[in-house]
Amino acid sequence: MPDRYAVIGHPIAHSKSPRIHALFAAQTGQDMRYEALLAPLDGFVATVHEFIAAGGRGANVTVPFKEEAFRLATRLSERARAAGAVNTLTFAGTEILGDNTDGAGLVRDLKRNLGVGIAGKRVLLLGAGGAARGVVMPLLAEQPGQLVIANRTVGKALALASTFPTCTGCGLDELDSRVFDLVINATSAGLTGGVPPRLTFTFAPDAFVYDMVYGRETDFLRQALAAGAVVADGLGMLVEQAAEAFLVWRGVLPETAPVLTELRAA
Ligand code: NDP
Repeated sequence: MPDRYAVIGHPIAHSKSPRIHALFAAQTGQDMRYEALLAPLDGFVATVHEFIAAGGRGANVTVPFKEEAFRLATRLSERARAAGAVNTLTFAGTEILGDNTDGAGLVRDLKRNLGVGIAGKRVLLLGAGGAARGVVMPLLAEQPGQLVIANRTVGKALALASTFPTCTGCGLDELDSRVFDLVINATSAGLTGGVPPRLTFTFAPDAFVYDMVYGRETDFLRQALAAGAVVADGLGMLVEQAAEAFLVWRGVLPETAPVLTELRAA
């Protein structure tokens, strides 16, 4: 029997994770199966326990269960604790180990795939939800010149920034006249079709703009392109965070470039 893994979310049918992990498994010769599990909105914990009882070895967790997964874990990695959210569970006997690979995925996509350095840069992170929380510590580890967290609900930006001594938090409407080299959109505005954050700040001449949403050109990226910035969507982060989860489970870091190429072609 191959080892079983899954991604658990609601909704889940759109997930690219089963395809990504199937490609990683084929590439590295790992005997494993990876499926998508739809958990009822009030049934995440039951779904995890059923999967463990059926022989599951680990699971990725996606919207809207990352905070529930954080509470469910019996042990947490440092990066999961800093994020307050878990996207990777490993089942080991009676223990449920919680990790968060989103930040590692973003940093690797920026640095390795896109050639964007973070050290010394003026970085703006838009959003203060689960995805934003997951990337703050890994971004700070790259020693940006500054990291500003801006969110529609100001209190959430202030709360998140206050947990990291070198960050500042503010509202989306408090960015006028500030200049940034790297802007990362971690809001779900582009996904929900809601009103995107208005670009009220100034881009440095060679600014880079990253939207974590993938598979579509969001209004946010369109605004950034029109302002002369170089842009990227979040598909590379998706593949890189999956590779990091694969490393956690199987002890092997797969090659991401061919997988990213195949997903882009599809
Ligand atoms: P959450 O629901 O936890 O947070 C949503 C965030 O978006 C909040 O900060 C919210 O602000 C903000 N927001 C929502 N709508 C608007 C709007 N119309 N205008 C301004 N701000 C808005 O979601 P996540 O943090 O988990 O995910 C955020 C995005 O990142 C999603 O699109 C998700 O698909 C993507 N993502 C991509 C990954 C990848 O690998 N590429 C990995 C993880 C996430 P407020 O607090 O005011 O409500």
